[in-house]
Amino acid sequence: MVAQVDQVNSQIDSLSEQQWLAIIMNDKSYDSQFFYAVKTTGIFCRPSCRSRPPRRGNIRTFQTADQALTENFRPCKRCKPTGQRLPDIEWIATVTDYIDRNYMKPVTLEILAEISHGSPYHLHRTFKRIKEITPVEYIQIIRMNKARELLTQTDLGIVDVGISVGMHNSPYFITLFKKMIGFTPLQYRQLNIKRKQRGDAAE
Ligand SMILES: [Zn+2]
Repeated sequence: MVAQVDQVNSQIDSLSEQQWLAIIMNDKSYDSQFFYAVKTTGIFCRPSCRSRPPRRGNIRTFQTADQALTENFRPCKRCKPTGQRLPDIEWIATVTDYIDRNYMKPVTLEILAEISHGSPYHLHRTFKRIKEITPVEYIQIIRMNKARELLTQTDLGIVDVGISVGMHNSPYFITLFKKMIGFTPLQYRQLNIKRKQRGDAAE
């Protein structure tokens, strides 16, 4: 059973030369014939989509939009492969998903706009309306939460904790952590150790 499913999947996966050309030429005549998804962004498009062509190795193709949806790909906001307007909530979910998975890499408003197929301005405004914080604030919250985890659960040095959450500028990492959490990363780690020791003593 499993082997059969794998076989079907690999058939759907294989991108033909013709399909690849249709994608890079934005060929509308292929729109009813297949859809393509980009593994790195989790978004799927019609062949005619004017978004920047992805790397060939990251593409998966599907015969129907439903197949792509079943595999948890999200419809592109620009070419609307499901034929409906993509609700803003869905669009913003695409962006937060991306941040949750890529917070350790450089993430800017421009990158988020690119991967979610919108303009930076529109993305910023819509994000703020739905999440009540800006995309940059969301990135910072995710990064600080991961940093707290690393500080309490690993022995990584402060600089490495910063790097692990995508903040290579160590002084800036420390400043932002203090501003958002109320302690420096080192203080936070020490407080946590003390708290743990008190906990152990009580047991
Ligand atoms: Zn598209």
